[in-house]
Amino acid sequence: TNTHKSFKITSGLLGLQSGELRAVDNINLSVEKGKTLGLVGESGCGKSTLAKCIMGLEKLTAGEIRFEDKTINSWDEKKLRRKIQMIFQDPYSSLNPRHKVGAIIREGLDIHHIGSPKDRILKVNETLKLVGLLPEHAQRYPHEFSGGQRQRIAIARALALNPNLIVCDEPVSALDVSVQAQILTLLKDIQTQFKLTYVFISHDLSVISHIADQVAVMYLGRIMEVGPAQILFEFPRHPYTQALLSAVLAPDPEAQSQQILLNGDLPSPLAPPRGCPFHPRCPYAFEKCAVIKPELKNVDSQIQTACWLD
Ligand code: SF4
Ligand code: MG
Repeated sequence: TNTHKSFKITSGLLGLQSGELRAVDNINLSVEKGKTLGLVGESGCGKSTLAKCIMGLEKLTAGEIRFEDKTINSWDEKKLRRKIQMIFQDPYSSLNPRHKVGAIIREGLDIHHIGSPKDRILKVNETLKLVGLLPEHAQRYPHEFSGGQRQRIAIARALALNPNLIVCDEPVSALDVSVQAQILTLLKDIQTQFKLTYVFISHDLSVISHIADQVAVMYLGRIMEVGPAQILFEFPRHPYTQALLSAVLAPDPEAQSQQILLNGDLPSPLAPPRGCPFHPRCPYAFEKCAVIKPELKNVDSQIQTACWLD
């Protein structure tokens, strides 16, 4: 197996450049080339901020992000903009409605001066076919397509630049379940074909379970648990991971008796609780949890958790 790290984030505190919000904390993540890191958590937990840091759109306040053995900040910005692409949740608002599909896909090639005008047309046709659309679709407008097809167009636009990493921010959340499966299959196919690395953000654990190799569970800007998907889904260690998983389990009575319900609402990420940020909702919380924040630590060679019980 290829153990080359496509990107790595170490011991950083991340924060919004302009504001006070320290949205993402105690990060220690890496993903190998050709693999998928799934970031899961409720909305407002800092997943998108983390994604922006990976894209170089937000600055780290400490620690570092390495992409292919170079820190994000030492990359030539234009090159980085090409090598890391992004796919967003809403395939309608992310596509300019006044531009034809061909122009949308070609835009990045124009900006980055890739190939001759004729090469660019060929590349548009090629990427349309790669995502299951047709070259003649280049002449149509986004509104002429379904949500799933529009997400295919967004994927084609990303692929046209031959990226190494694609950050997918809730890419199937706006789609019907049957369409979600098709888009996930497409993403997996092109990943294998082009050895793409994904950072895949979702609030939906079942979606994450279909695509991720490595999973990081986030809560209020902190990583609660990181590990290989297979292990994490079968043996969730962190109470928050257990709660998320039990919420999506099939309603079999035995599973239900072990179900952990989340008490109360999600606190504001701007004012996270002291101590373990999960303590107001955690069924296992004890005194220390409300006072001292557990750091993310290795509990074995593959799993990291941030919990006093580990
Ligand atoms: Fe629950 Fe305490 Fe562990 Fe936090 S540290 S998850 S409150 S047991
Ligand atoms: Mg978000």
